Amino acid sequence: MKADLHCHSHFSDGKHAPEFLFSRALENQVTHLAITDHDCITVDQQLTEAALPLQLITGVEISCQWLDHEIHLVGLAFDPADKLLRDALEQQRQQRLKRAHRMAERLGGPHEAALKNYLGQLPCLAYTRTHIADFLVEEGLCKNHEQAFKKFLSRRGKIFEPIQWMSLETAIKLIHDAGGVSVIAHPSRYRFTRTKLKKLLNDFAQQHGTGIETSYSNVDPATRNQLTELAQEMRLMVSSGSDFHSDANHWTNIGKFTVIPPETKNAIWNHPRWHSFKLA
Ligand code: AMP
Ligand code: MN
Ligand code: MN
Ligand code: MN
Repeated sequence: MKADLHCHSHFSDGKHAPEFLFSRALENQVTHLAITDHDCITVDQQLTEAALPLQLITGVEISCQWLDHEIHLVGLAFDPADKLLRDALEQQRQQRLKRAHRMAERLGGPHEAALKNYLGQLPCLAYTRTHIADFLVEEGLCKNHEQAFKKFLSRRGKIFEPIQWMSLETAIKLIHDAGGVSVIAHPSRYRFTRTKLKKLLNDFAQQHGTGIETSYSNVDPATRNQLTELAQEMRLMVSSGSDFHSDANHWTNIGKFTVIPPETKNAIWNHPRWHSFKLA
């Protein structure tokens, strides 16, 4: 068993269609795959009608607010038809579109219309800062994504516009009420101190959150071990996922991470709710 439970398609800021992710997963011996697009449910009933020799799990990566931080929560194995969850995600996507337009307006001049036009032609459902970074690079306003984020799109960037995301607690509840399990994405990427990370995991456990990612692209073995220990200490489960966005990013690939042994007691797929919703 090899479970990649975190990746993106072009319905959010991934560069490829779901079909590309499926075939890459098969090539890389992935047996369980969840596409977890930002604030949208990609693998709906239509997609799952295609017979695939791998198990698809419903997924989403929800942007949430915890204190004054932005945390990403991965939801897995929920009912994709759940109305409350769908409506809440739709609201976040509307916020994303409005923010993208506000950012275009801050850019001003001829770039404003050009960016709005660019966004209108994307196949995506959830507009992210990555799309704006693509535009800035294509227009020659930045050399690369790193510069685009640093100069324009990060909190201190020239055209940054905030969004009031749903709270972490709300996101957990929405996923659980839809029958799924909730997982804190890439805990080491928030650059928290150990104390802050423990506070996050404590709050998360108190809000009945299910687990955390311990195995993902670029997580070093020491951090992975620390996260695994923290999960045990806090009685949280563990999950794995590549966070794959694009074939052009050589540091990630579907199925690229240290595999969590399937029999691991607190592996997310051993949660009782894992089997409550089955696709196709
Ligand atoms: P958003 O959810 O719209 O705020 O966009 C965040 C997305 O941008 C993340 O999911 C990453 O894929 C990407 N991202 C965030 N920070 C950076 C960065 N410094 N360089 C490149 N991509 C980034
Ligand atoms: Mn992303
Ligand atoms: Mn994320
Ligand atoms: Mn992600």
